Amino acid sequence: MIKAKINKVDVEVPEGTTILEAARKANFTVPTLCRHPDLTPEGSCGLCVVEVEGFPALRRACVTQLEQGWVVNTNTVRIRNARKELVELILSDHDTDCLTCIKNSRCELQEVARIVGIKEITDYGKKRKKPIDMSSVAIVRDPNKCILCGRCIAVCSEIQTVNALTLNARGSDTTVSTAFNEGLGNSACVNCGQCTVFCPVGALYEKSQTDEVWKALNDPEKHVVVQEAPAIRAQLGEEFGMAPGTIVSGKLHAALRRMKFDAVFDTNFTADLTIIEEGNEVVDAIKTGKSLPIITSCSPGWIKFMETFYPHLSGHVSTAKSPQQMFGTLSKTYYSDLKGIPAEKIVSVSVMPCTAKKFEAQRPEMRSSGFQDVDYVLTTRELGRMMREAGLDLKDLPDEPADDPLGEYTGAATIFGATGGVMEAALRSAYFLVTGRELENLDILPVRGMEGVKEAEVPVDGLNLKVAVAHGLGNARKLLDKISAQLAETGKSEYHFVEIMACPGGCVGGGGQPWGSDMARRARRGEALYEEDKSLPKRRSHENISVGLLYEKYLKKPNSEKAHHLLHTHYSRRSKVDGKIVKEG
Ligand code: SF4
Ligand code: SF4
Ligand code: SF4
Repeated sequence: MIKAKINKVDVEVPEGTTILEAARKANFTVPTLCRHPDLTPEGSCGLCVVEVEGFPALRRACVTQLEQGWVVNTNTVRIRNARKELVELILSDHDTDCLTCIKNSRCELQEVARIVGIKEITDYGKKRKKPIDMSSVAIVRDPNKCILCGRCIAVCSEIQTVNALTLNARGSDTTVSTAFNEGLGNSACVNCGQCTVFCPVGALYEKSQTDEVWKALNDPEKHVVVQEAPAIRAQLGEEFGMAPGTIVSGKLHAALRRMKFDAVFDTNFTADLTIIEEGNEVVDAIKTGKSLPIITSCSPGWIKFMETFYPHLSGHVSTAKSPQQMFGTLSKTYYSDLKGIPAEKIVSVSVMPCTAKKFEAQRPEMRSSGFQDVDYVLTTRELGRMMREAGLDLKDLPDEPADDPLGEYTGAATIFGATGGVMEAALRSAYFLVTGRELENLDILPVRGMEGVKEAEVPVDGLNLKVAVAHGLGNARKLLDKISAQLAETGKSEYHFVEIMACPGGCVGGGGQPWGSDMARRARRGEALYEEDKSLPKRRSHENISVGLLYEKYLKKPNSEKAHHLLHTHYSRRSKVDGKIVKEG
């Protein structure tokens, strides 16, 4: 243990603890704009400077480990002046139009400016207006708000290994951008949105569709249906000051109804449906000796990543559409038929924890209904904003159920929102499909939790089903490299079924989650989904009665011709340079 003094307070911390961590433990706030708990500290912003007695130069607290007997000061005139000068410099070339900024009142720069006591913004010269990058269908990049902290570059390279972002130009012209400054929409960016979660200011955010949804809701000619993903119920509460991991399913339905959606459904319904389609695909593949593994397909960031970096594995990826897209198709076919509402009048809206879902909804193949299956995708953050505009506070709302027939769900669907959840849900039903018996212990613990790559073996009628789960694309890359090597060497992989989610923690850690998230919050949200699963009367997807009726009345059977037409898709190869589809041959 290291014993030292910070601002005259005795501290004792394990060896290797940084001054920043030690100061926080002793309840001292040391401001920083580049440090994030999920990233390796870089010390790039320089705001966390402190004095260590005996050393003439100021030290960066986030990258300096505390040493035995040190006497540290975090609050002297010299430190306060240095910090203030730094923030003044940042603000002198910053578009400080806070009132119209997406991050207003949730911005780390605003908070730091308050802490260091900025009273006016010094004008060091003309502010330069730089063009806003609108080239992506999912992410907006506004260089006028960027403070060059480097967090977005770090998450895109360290955690996601996509490397879509880089520093361009030099000196005062430096900007964060894509290679050759071509724009995110013309790059290998997979739209995961992690950079929007890590950015401390309003420089990276989702491309909003709230105006379009308000317009549809106020159009008497339109019938607007909404679905909300499993993870939303564990995230949305945070937008209204509730503790991370508070489950708000019932309040969420009530809010959407009060916003005048004509039908309030639940993506969990099609999560159960996905399990039936995908589970049958896996069982068929095992029975017919198809090359394994089958890899899940519900994370659109992962799908674009696969198309760009691992196209040789596309034949292993389940053809089942994601629950969002299955829902969109069914809302304009099955639901349209049931209610006698023409599909062209239906506007299908989804609420997702994910920015990549915006890209997925606009893929040209996602039109099996004859229309764009999902018209608008809102992130958790966008729904929070719309609710505030509508004068709704989630905390004040009653619990209400979703509507029929696309609202029923089981616990297996709820856990789709956490890493390992799709695998666990699939195993619960695959066991039944193969043996005709129910799996007794539904809690498959080895696939739960925040470990980057998880493995499990589940005995199913003499076969040891070997499965693997990866979340975050850096972890996925490690697993996919292993699978690729096995396939190249022997034509076989040790795994039967693999789950991949683009975002760390799975959908609970998606790019559309509330601002200010870290891995601890993601984990808490995931635990909350498992708690909801445990509390539900049905926990296996094949127990969903409304899904059974859908097959009986409409699709006939899993993987039928109609099911294939409506619920399955195909993949393309993409360029690593601009992310565009590469024409084969
Ligand atoms: S990024 Fe923060 S400081 Fe800058 S305009 Fe937006 S809210 Fe204001
Ligand atoms: S959205 Fe994801 S892939 Fe694209 S730049 Fe941001 S972190 Fe990188
Ligand atoms: S875009 Fe945001 S995260 Fe990236 S360097 Fe600029 S301020 Fe930091």
